[in-house]
Amino acid sequence: MLEKLIGESKVLERAIAGEKLGMQDGIELMKYDNLYMIGAVADATRQKLVGNKVTFTASSYLNYTNVCAASCQICAFYRKENDNDAYTLTPGQIEGRVSAAKKMGATEMHIVGGFHPKLSLDYYESMMKIIKKNHPELKIKAFTAAEIFFFAKLTKNSVKEVLSRLKNSGLDSLPWWGRRVVPSRN
Ligand code: SF4
Repeated sequence: MLEKLIGESKVLERAIAGEKLGMQDGIELMKYDNLYMIGAVADATRQKLVGNKVTFTASSYLNYTNVCAASCQICAFYRKENDNDAYTLTPGQIEGRVSAAKKMGATEMHIVGGFHPKLSLDYYESMMKIIKKNHPELKIKAFTAAEIFFFAKLTKNSVKEVLSRLKNSGLDSLPWWGRRVVPSRN
């Protein structure tokens, strides 16, 4: 049934046939315009592989700062450095929040902030290191692509250098969002 509905996607055909997909397939699927169909194929594949077993991540959300160099019109979150309610957590305070989240069952920390105009890469590295040192089993998903790009510009490092330093300090993955810096291909 699903096979008939997929249309022209060879990638989804291969997924249904049980083939393992690679990065290029993922890029192809980004151009495929039927998200529901991708979900249906993913669900059918899961059913085939593990039946009704479903796993999940208990992710705890943390904003290390609300100070942001940008002023997006849609945003009620950002503050400027001198605003009364502007805040930036120290790595130690962040660790405290992470400990509390772990006690409540978190298995992953999702950490993002504004574009702070003054924080150094050392700050972000310290944040990663202190979390990983005290909670090695917790996954750290942190910093949108937009933040990474901003850190690179601010600290005059390449994106690759920034990612490499953060990864070496304990960063496991980036959140999926933050697409606002990705230029249009049209
Ligand atoms: S970059 Fe993010 S935090 Fe900063 S103003 Fe825009 S939406 Fe708000």
